[in-house]
Amino acid sequence: GTEKTAKAGKTAAPKSGVKLTHPDRLYWPDAGVTKAGLADYYAQVWRWMGPFVTGRPLALLRCPEGTAGQCFFQKHVWRGASKSIRLVTDPQDKDAGPLVAVDDLDGLAGLVQAGVLEIHPWGSTLRDMEHPDQIILDLDPGEGVDWADITAAAREVKARLEAVGLASFVKTSGGKGLHVVAPLKPKADWAAAKTFAHDLAFAMAKDDPDAFVAVVTKAKRKGRILVDYLRNGRGNTAVAAYSTRARAGAPVSMPVAWAEIDDIGPAAFAVENAPTRLLNLKADPWADFWDSAAPLPAAKGRRKG
Ligand code: ATP
Ligand code: MN
Ligand code: MN
Repeated sequence: GTEKTAKAGKTAAPKSGVKLTHPDRLYWPDAGVTKAGLADYYAQVWRWMGPFVTGRPLALLRCPEGTAGQCFFQKHVWRGASKSIRLVTDPQDKDAGPLVAVDDLDGLAGLVQAGVLEIHPWGSTLRDMEHPDQIILDLDPGEGVDWADITAAAREVKARLEAVGLASFVKTSGGKGLHVVAPLKPKADWAAAKTFAHDLAFAMAKDDPDAFVAVVTKAKRKGRILVDYLRNGRGNTAVAAYSTRARAGAPVSMPVAWAEIDDIGPAAFAVENAPTRLLNLKADPWADFWDSAAPLPAAKGRRKG
């Protein structure tokens, strides 16, 4: 009866109506994750992931043959894309093909159908594309950097954001580092967001040059952490919370609590254990993300000379 369905709907993962071809194709042979398994993962985490991926332009890493085959980064729509995917013309690039967005779990399943193994959203929404609603500092450890150094770097970013009135949230990248994300009221433009992130990264490098670098030059990174601020320009992206990565072990980018980061490692969360973690959480560490949004602080006047 309806009562039973409603009750079940509260706890059961939603289902997508998108039909998958080759559901048994192994997307991560090393982890035994198939295309159907990936769709199932997203259905299970949708409740948490939805707010972070819907209604914004997406860049996508597609690997139609799985991680064992070739992958390519795609910023525009492709032929044969599922009808569940939303197409959006970029007002500043009308001649390029449409950008891609999803509105719901069916849209995400449409991405899985196309072999998308990584989802990289813009830091702004379709409703207000020119004003980012978050900034992200991507901490990239160079060779020989310990996890403790990475967590210390994340806390340093947090302290600096807090000092100017911004809340910050942390997630694993699903790769080697951590991402610190600050929700914004979408008021400032992309140029201001990038300048702010640039200045934060360069201030960290200046204050502790043995620990941090802000320039992307690989040679300078050994033993240091790159505070990568370049995720904050228009059209730049970072991997979405809960997205899988096309890397060994089917890792995912997992939102975590600040108190948790010392007890985990970069590869703590993957398709295999992420849904269980979420179902067992006492409190979602990112529950207050959107409610914590504050305007980007005005840039300090730059003195000349
Ligand atoms: P890690 O912790 O291993 O650094 P990460 O996701 O932070 O994981 P980075 O290499 O630091 O990886 O970030 C690269 C970012 O650049 C990605 O998050 C993605 O949004 C973007 N990106 C990746 N590949 C391309 C590409 N081919 N073209 C443009 N942007 C890309
Ligand atoms: Mn990174
Ligand atoms: Mn980076």
